[in-house]
Amino acid sequence: MTDAAESPARTGLTVVIPCYNEADNIQPSYREILAELGTLDLEIIYVDDGSTDGTLEAIRRIAESDPRVQYISFTRNFGFEAAFSAGYRYASRPWILHIDADQQFPAAEAWVLIEAAEHGHDAVFGVRTNRQDPRLRRWGTAAFHYIGRRILRIEIPRGATAFRLVRSDLAREIVDLRLPTPYFLATVPRLTNRYTTVPVRHRPRTRGESKVGFGFLSAHAVELFVGFSSRPTTAASIGTLLSGLLALLLTAASAAGLVGGHAIAAMLLLLLAVVLFTLSLTVRHLVVLGGAQARPRQFYIRESTLPVRDDDRLCVTSRFLGATP
Ligand code: UDP
Ligand code: MG
Repeated sequence: MTDAAESPARTGLTVVIPCYNEADNIQPSYREILAELGTLDLEIIYVDDGSTDGTLEAIRRIAESDPRVQYISFTRNFGFEAAFSAGYRYASRPWILHIDADQQFPAAEAWVLIEAAEHGHDAVFGVRTNRQDPRLRRWGTAAFHYIGRRILRIEIPRGATAFRLVRSDLAREIVDLRLPTPYFLATVPRLTNRYTTVPVRHRPRTRGESKVGFGFLSAHAVELFVGFSSRPTTAASIGTLLSGLLALLLTAASAAGLVGGHAIAAMLLLLLAVVLFTLSLTVRHLVVLGGAQARPRQFYIRESTLPVRDDDRLCVTSRFLGATP
């Protein structure tokens, strides 16, 4: 059991809300968060991930009327990993609650995470007990976790979602690592073993559409697989070697008159395909790891109520509002 004084309920909480085209969700989510957590020492950071639908205007209105509300707005859409990373970097309270803008995770479930954090954890991840998303999404997530955890042996908290409570210094450390493959879920277990998962309720989306498509999710998954495991490239290399041996055998068999020309051509094409696949995985692996260089930039900020770092701002167009020194 952690010291009660360290409980997020006592020390204060920064709520980070990534938003991409969520204009209709800003007010309702703000009201729900206040109704549930309004008694805490609260900071709310909305991260506008380059929305084009009035999301930023809705956030500005709330920020003008409530000094607990801050925001960061990106120059364009950089994806949810970048959006929450920016919020994590500038959180001022000792704990961060990450919650989506669409209210799929009820704010009341934050208490379940808080209660678990009080047992000495640095990070607590919500797991959807009754996920309210289309079947294809659920299957995709199951496949992702199976490949990542079981086949590639990447340590990812089982069933973990973005609805989570994390110590701010841990979250900031992860963002400041500037990993070539920023993947929060897989990085937490590398920095601490004091993490856990707890079941939480989940609701269907009632306003707006899901912003994460199949293309984005699969690209993000491949980044994780090749960035956090060398198994895909090793398996592809072994595959190339084996098909090379097979091609050699077939050539010998054809020279001995045992198989015809078509079989040889088919085998050579297969070999070519395997070689290209290996090559693409290897190149991806190298690009992702970037020769071990830190990723130069995950996002550009165009506007913020927070005193953001110069190197996070796009200086040409930013309007630094500098609420607090
Ligand atoms: N989001 C974001 N940038 C993106 C995509 C999504 O900031 O490029 C936000 C989105 O507005 C929402 C949260 O991330 O608050 C989760 O997105 P969404 O609800 O679309 O994902 P799903 O619940 O379908 O997995
Ligand atoms: Mg959602």
